[in-house]
Amino acid sequence: MTKKIAVLAGDGIGPEIMAEAIKVLNVLNGQMNLGLEFENGLIGGAAYDVHGSPFPQPTIDLVKKADAILLGAVGGKKWESLDISVRPEKGLLGLRSVLRLFSNLRPAILYPQLANASSLKPELVSGLDLMIVRELTGGIYFGQPRGIRILESGEKQGFNTLVYSESEIRRIGHSAFKIAQKRNKKLCSVDKANVLECTELWREVMIEVGKEYPDVELSHMYVDNAAMQLIRAPKQFDVMVTTNMFGDILSDAAAMLTGSIGMLPSASLDANGKGMYEPIHGSAPDIAGKGIANPLATILSAAMMLRYTFNLSVAADRIENAVNSALNANVRTADIFSEGMIKVSTSQMGDAVVSALQNGAI
Ligand code: NAD
Repeated sequence: MTKKIAVLAGDGIGPEIMAEAIKVLNVLNGQMNLGLEFENGLIGGAAYDVHGSPFPQPTIDLVKKADAILLGAVGGKKWESLDISVRPEKGLLGLRSVLRLFSNLRPAILYPQLANASSLKPELVSGLDLMIVRELTGGIYFGQPRGIRILESGEKQGFNTLVYSESEIRRIGHSAFKIAQKRNKKLCSVDKANVLECTELWREVMIEVGKEYPDVELSHMYVDNAAMQLIRAPKQFDVMVTTNMFGDILSDAAAMLTGSIGMLPSASLDANGKGMYEPIHGSAPDIAGKGIANPLATILSAAMMLRYTFNLSVAADRIENAVNSALNANVRTADIFSEGMIKVSTSQMGDAVVSALQNGAI
């Protein structure tokens, strides 16, 4: 069966890193007959330049009919003075909302070869492999009422509303339990149930949903403790699931445990597993066009796509193992370079992954 992938390279280093991910997928496609088909589309500043919109109709049509979307990055100085409604970043928001992507997957993986890049002691983080599942479309970032009002006393008051319905919690719960089933079957739900009623309900519903996944061990943690534990002993976690705001903060903290922005993939999924896959970093305008960007986050995003949208876990494992082999061969792009290693360009790093695949990295 063919699997349609919309490829949106975007701006800055986007096209450079995307070329490497497609190179890797093409080799795997040939080796394993995966039926992957690619179609390119414009997003962000590149789309604005052609269509006057960062998420134009042809791209909307393309992503709607695709089974998965692979995205590079958007944004850059050239478009910073545009009206906010047509800035490149609006393209991403449009994509999330058109496709109803509510489940944000943020892995934090630290390859032992890069353990020195972390600000934590290598023994605490070496081999770290955790996944934060963040609810992306609800909670306090979207709750009504919200605003800044003037009280009778004349003083201003800012207010926001933390709100989650049972169905929203159930939906992200199922998404997280299914992900835990594909990993080490341990799920930690993070809330503040001792203070916030909304997350008291969150905990109740997670427990209910958990009954449908008896093979997954469910635990609960208050968010303040979770923040401490992430820094104290991050390897205790497999999958964490949490609200939009808690996930926003915890996933950035977890990303920094790995010390390297060029290595981290991410995914945003809908209720049926259709997803958008992208590196967590931006378009890096400071290094765009120099051929030195690290393509591994994008290549690993492609592996996530195979695993979570297409259920091709063997193919996903092969990409991840090939990345590991490339690191074992001591090749490093500038961002992860250290003394004694071999400094390579963006395309040479892609070649190293391809060559590991061709040499049968398993
Ligand atoms: P950034 O992630 O683009 O860059 C931060 C730093 O990390 C830079 O020094 C950059 O050179 C480096 N870096 C990032 N990715 C790298 C890679 N693959 N290899 C090597 N080094 C890498 O963040 P920024 O500089 O704050 O933002 C630049 C632009 O990207 C802005 O327009 C911003 O709005 C946009 N942005 C887009 C996304 C997205 O597309 N999802 C995310 C964040 C920022």
